[in-house]
Amino acid sequence: MSGTLRVHSYESFGAVDGPGIRLVVFLQGCPLRCLFCHNPDTWDPAGSTETPIPEIVRKATRMRPYLGAEGGVTFSGGEPLLQARPLLEAIEALHAEGFHVALDTSGAVDTPEALAALDAADLVLLDVKSPFPERFRAVTGADPAAYWRVLGHLRRTRKPLWVRQVVAHGLNDTPAEKAATRDLLAGLNVRRLDRLPYHELGVHKYEALGIPYRGAALRPPTPEELAP
Ligand code: SF4
Repeated sequence: MSGTLRVHSYESFGAVDGPGIRLVVFLQGCPLRCLFCHNPDTWDPAGSTETPIPEIVRKATRMRPYLGAEGGVTFSGGEPLLQARPLLEAIEALHAEGFHVALDTSGAVDTPEALAALDAADLVLLDVKSPFPERFRAVTGADPAAYWRVLGHLRRTRKPLWVRQVVAHGLNDTPAEKAATRDLLAGLNVRRLDRLPYHELGVHKYEALGIPYRGAALRPPTPEELAP
């Protein structure tokens, strides 16, 4: 039996969401409301349409000549772990066809199915929203407990990680935030750390959706603030 995933959109030649060239599958639905989110159109878990998993595998198979030896498929969002059960099925179906599968997640879902999907992925691209639990809550609007439990799981399993952190002036640019981020990542199997400058490219989507933009006071960081 094949399940379905709610797919928001695809990117066919992703070059930054995992090694090599990737088919990036953006899944619908997110439990967080990050200050700096530029994809509010992915938030609604009931949005977009149900896509059968074999259709995603067929799309990846058609792309195989372009993905090369290093590339593969990345599930992103939204938050892909919101659909953990069919996501796990999709990862297993892609593995059966020989694809490398990465999972781009905020780490804020810690159901048994979500942990199983994290275990199944070859690589996890993990966000750091804030190294401080109370700041995490302020940035995302969500309870930080699940994220810290997921970190513990990733530490225990030694899952290979690419860590990503959006940096904004006045939000998380201070030496104290940087030191706390290094402490947070201690003991994790971090293969790469990318600090990404905040930008305002998605703000127009809030106007179109009629949603207030919580990040209006944020500004891009200086090069010094962006440095690890
Ligand atoms: S986790 Fe990603 S998609 Fe969800 S609100 Fe935060 S930035 Fe947006």
